Amino acid sequence: MPKFPVLRSELKDGDCLCNHCTALCCRYFSLPIKAPKKREDYDLYREFLTIGRISFFVEDDVWYLVVYGDCQYLTPDYRCGIYFERPLICGTYTTDGCEYDNDVCFDKFFETPEQISEYAEAVLPPKKPLLPLGRKKKTAPEVVPPPPTYFKLRIETPTNWDDYDNLRWYMTHGPVALSLEKGNHWHLIVFADGQERAGRRAFELENGAGVKRYFETPDQIWEYAHAILPPREPLERDQHLKVLLPVLN
Ligand code: SF4
Ligand code: SF4
Repeated sequence: MPKFPVLRSELKDGDCLCNHCTALCCRYFSLPIKAPKKREDYDLYREFLTIGRISFFVEDDVWYLVVYGDCQYLTPDYRCGIYFERPLICGTYTTDGCEYDNDVCFDKFFETPEQISEYAEAVLPPKKPLLPLGRKKKTAPEVVPPPPTYFKLRIETPTNWDDYDNLRWYMTHGPVALSLEKGNHWHLIVFADGQERAGRRAFELENGAGVKRYFETPDQIWEYAHAILPPREPLERDQHLKVLLPVLN
């Protein structure tokens, strides 16, 4: 039995690969992140992995965070519900080398906390022993904290329409949120699987005082962009709409 309903090479003229796909490219977002250097960086990324809906990959020494989640605008028949207003990154994505039949092989890929811990042990200098060898001290049994319900990652400050359009794209793959905090620091907040409510509560308790603005939906971040940025230059596809709209009206 063939692995794919239609082979890329057998696509008929005028047909599109997307017609035979379950919209694999609309089920996650990814962004470049700081490469971990110290043990604390690895510990942090290890903790991120415990929330269960992310992975990390490394390509050409650049680290990326992947957050899994179906786009809220994906329709049951695997179409885009906001086709004419979809984020730029969606509008410029093509089927060339896309996820349809692409057995992607990254330079490095981490999907469990154990994997990143093992990697950290392999690349970092050995941990220093806490006590000189031979001396033993009674210690209380280790208390394992409950798994986190969210994590927060500092991201680049958005400055233009493309940046905000990307943030809007992240937000379509909820549950995620964005916070603008003291010092004009922006953060992406990703909630753990099935823990959105608890995660939002925990985030508020732990960060509330420092948060200047908080965004939970793509519309909210888009409205904010409209409020603070100069008017957006029409995109090429909007120009196209301008030509079409009078005809449609
Ligand atoms: S671009 Fe590729 S992965 Fe995305 S819907 Fe089309 S065929 Fe599927
Ligand atoms: S907005 Fe983008 S990710 Fe969402 S359904 Fe449309 S094309 Fe897919």
